[in-house]
Amino acid sequence: MPSPPSSLPGRVAFVGAGPGAADLLTLRAIDRLRAADVIVHDSLVPDRVLDEVNPAAERIQVDRDQDQRPSPGTATGRLLARLVLEGRTVVRLKGGDPTVFARLTEELEPLRQAGVAVEFVPGITAALAAAAAAAVPLTSRDSASSVTLVTGREADGKADGIDFRPLADLPGTLAVYMGVEQVARWSGELLAAGLPADTPVTIVSRCSWPDQRIGGSTLGDCVRDFEAHGWRSPAIVLVGAKVPPAFGPLQGQFVLATRPTGQEGELAAAIRAAGGECINVPLVRIADPPSWRPLDEAISRADTYDWIVFASGNGVRGFMRRLAGLGLDGRALGTARLAAIGPATRRQLEASGYRCDLVPQTFSSEGLVAALAAQTSRGRYLLVRADRGRDVVRRELETHGHHVDEAVAYESLSLESLDSDTLAGLDATSVAWLTLTSPSVADAAVRLFGPRLRSWKIATISPLTSAALARHGLQPAAEAVEATATGLVDAIVRHGPAGVRLSEESAEAANLPPTSRG
Ligand code: SAH
Repeated sequence: MPSPPSSLPGRVAFVGAGPGAADLLTLRAIDRLRAADVIVHDSLVPDRVLDEVNPAAERIQVDRDQDQRPSPGTATGRLLARLVLEGRTVVRLKGGDPTVFARLTEELEPLRQAGVAVEFVPGITAALAAAAAAAVPLTSRDSASSVTLVTGREADGKADGIDFRPLADLPGTLAVYMGVEQVARWSGELLAAGLPADTPVTIVSRCSWPDQRIGGSTLGDCVRDFEAHGWRSPAIVLVGAKVPPAFGPLQGQFVLATRPTGQEGELAAAIRAAGGECINVPLVRIADPPSWRPLDEAISRADTYDWIVFASGNGVRGFMRRLAGLGLDGRALGTARLAAIGPATRRQLEASGYRCDLVPQTFSSEGLVAALAAQTSRGRYLLVRADRGRDVVRRELETHGHHVDEAVAYESLSLESLDSDTLAGLDATSVAWLTLTSPSVADAAVRLFGPRLRSWKIATISPLTSAALARHGLQPAAEAVEATATGLVDAIVRHGPAGVRLSEESAEAANLPPTSRG
């Protein structure tokens, strides 16, 4: 079904941003955001979501004034009305869903007065995202036939907040928004009204942000536990939801991925499929090579090769982008056959509309050489690759008497540093595993994470990546048998929960660089 048109003049779209992660936005929300030229948002919407979806739009953050006091909804409503009347395409982006605890009534009033029409785009509200993150059902046939969204803190001005006692009689789950600060009051009322002290309590803070935390407690202990473990807003507290037995071997474990932005999907999916939580912190960034000349020249004689060999998905992307940029298409490749180093690279070729003629049995340079050597005698090869990386394929093919040209299709650049928010987020999360998917990422991890590597188990995608780690005096706890995202997660699962951490000696020996960790 087509969604309604994105930008009607003279109206504001109130759009739910979901809990924080960009991939929890709806397609309609993305459509409205792309069309917007000004986005009025609150602090529950991460900058990186806006960076990804519409970096060009003007952004106005409104939920706090300069003194960090909540700004009244009516002031925001007036701002929205003014922007619309100026002819701007306005999105009012709210964390979660725009109709849940979102000061909507106050914001709508000035719009109504100004005759501005309003559209609503629903979003995933924090309670639902929290239940999904913690894998707890909000309802169940036998014991929970209702879900109540309730605020643990009343609007400023109302003296004592709502009375929680009647809620104790509901046969279901309470999802408490803004519940951390006044937990003593509302949990006390629920206990006083007869809810058992062992009623399960689940708390999820900064759900779907990189520093998401999930914790379990009981109604009787939650005041003490929240204090002891430093739980802070924004958080959802689920009261009464039964915590099901763990499903998936990585249940409750945080696994750190280090993929370039936008390329974490496959690994994140494999981690989630095993029940784990994926946090992605990119350590390298993919950039254009300093010059396109060599690749352009190679493309212009592409039909003279027997094989065009792709060593990564980024290589495929760079190649296809140039091919199209030169005004060419698949016909320019003539009868050249296409090889990919592994299944992810093959999928990238297929996504660009090409069939892949060869994927080796072992997904490595050596595997590739072995598979190619069995193909042609004295062939002409084009290797499409990154600026850095190994020479094995070229050298080996040349040793076998083949002609080999190489062309750089992208650069992979290690980041200089990580921003302090990211590091603080990681420090607040109990990361169980760090995954490393190439030797250069291993080097970057040692430099950028420093002593944190002492408390994380490390899983590598290949013996080469392990070797890079070994050069820093570190050893992985697990190494993938098959060099794919699934292979990496399989290695973690095989390792089991009773994982050994890096021993102190090996961390000492590694001589890890200092970080600013306090
Ligand atoms: N409209 C939002 C709610 C805004 S009220 C929604 O539908 O989700 C703010 C409260 O929402 C926070 O105090 C917290 O209780 C909850 N919240 C919002 N985003 C959250 C997140 N990412 N993780 C946990 N709780 C969140």
